[in-house]
Amino acid sequence: MHDLAQTIYESYPSLAFQQPSPPPHDTHRTFSPSLRPSPPSETNIFFREYQPLSVIIPWMRLLQSLFPSHVRMINIGITYEGRDIPALRVGVHPNNSEKPSRPRKTIIVAGGSHAREWISTSTVNYIAYSFITGYGKSKSMTELLEKFDFIFLPVLNVDGYIYTWENDRLWRKTRQQTSLRFCKGLDLDHSWGFEWDHSSSSKSNPCSEGFSGEEPFEAVESRRLANWVRNETEHNNVTFVGFLDFHSYSQQVLYPYSYSCTDTPPSLENLQELAIGLAKAIRLTNSQIYGVTSACEGSVTAGKRSNDKKSPIWPRVETGGGSALDWFYHEARVPYAYQIKLRDTGSYGFLLPADNIVPTGEEALAAVKYLGSWLLGNKGIESEDEEKGDFARWRESTKPVVRRPMEVGHEAQEVERGGDETEKGGGFEGEMQWELKRRRR
Ligand SMILES: [Zn+2]
Repeated sequence: MHDLAQTIYESYPSLAFQQPSPPPHDTHRTFSPSLRPSPPSETNIFFREYQPLSVIIPWMRLLQSLFPSHVRMINIGITYEGRDIPALRVGVHPNNSEKPSRPRKTIIVAGGSHAREWISTSTVNYIAYSFITGYGKSKSMTELLEKFDFIFLPVLNVDGYIYTWENDRLWRKTRQQTSLRFCKGLDLDHSWGFEWDHSSSSKSNPCSEGFSGEEPFEAVESRRLANWVRNETEHNNVTFVGFLDFHSYSQQVLYPYSYSCTDTPPSLENLQELAIGLAKAIRLTNSQIYGVTSACEGSVTAGKRSNDKKSPIWPRVETGGGSALDWFYHEARVPYAYQIKLRDTGSYGFLLPADNIVPTGEEALAAVKYLGSWLLGNKGIESEDEEKGDFARWRESTKPVVRRPMEVGHEAQEVERGGDETEKGGGFEGEMQWELKRRRR
């Protein structure tokens, strides 16, 4: 990449600001039982470009109104700056009053924790659209929607995402005020309450890209999602069975734990086996190779790569303690939790050209379908009831489902300490390398 400014300019859709792309008119047409399901690439202008939130939200509403039998738009909570965190709940609930209703098994497909990782947002939307329009046409997707609910959450970091559209294309964190006036934002993927870590400068410095906050769940958006998950579990008869957290870039399927390579998850073999299956499903779609490793190793690998001058420099801010991945696996007891880093491997990085939206969506869709078929088959959760495997024993023997994150309340406080520009740029290795890379490009 030679000219960073030009590349950033080109990553925005043409005329996006003057004239938002209209909602897809042809979604209607695709949901006719007489037509073959058409891939979104052929039918849908929505996936030709990255879309701003001002287009995504009406698009989600449109899907809800076109497909009321199996789509509902929901709100996970309110962001630091006061916006809704929208999601689509997709699933078919057969009405059978004879039987008492069993807990609804639910899979969360999330993206947009890190604002600049636009491909994660477009990918969640692509998968959502494919499932929604595939219902009644695709046998496998119809079966999955009858057995599971899917929560499609395209942008957790809503404030940050908007900031990447309006101010800084390469912004990563939220827009929450920190103790330093000129350094806004918490790293959502270091803000979760399991093995939250404040030990390194990358996590404790408010100016750092990986700032984890002053305490667990200080970040409003992760706290909202955790509270929502707890509420669904305790009061809405939901059992979360899968969590896919899409990020970019580096093409990796990462399984728990992120915080430590020495502690191994109790269901390691299952996690690995499915992870390999996910990567294979991806490869068989468009021949893209995604590595499979534990999330902590993913971090180490990134460090190694950065020492090799020929390889792309990857920021080391991605993994570590306080990740959503670990929290969902360990605290929410979701048996299959993965972080999937999408395209590419460094040529464009976060500025992935829009012609990757559809092929990346296709390969990620294959992974989600694979996850679903795994959960339906005699593997994973379906067999746990009978076999009482390691994970099931662990889940029963240890404490509770979801710990209550701190109550909301202090996000409005503004603490000003210093607030001098010179405090900016606390300088840890990965961040510096990333900054250098930004400038070099
Ligand atoms: Zn990320």
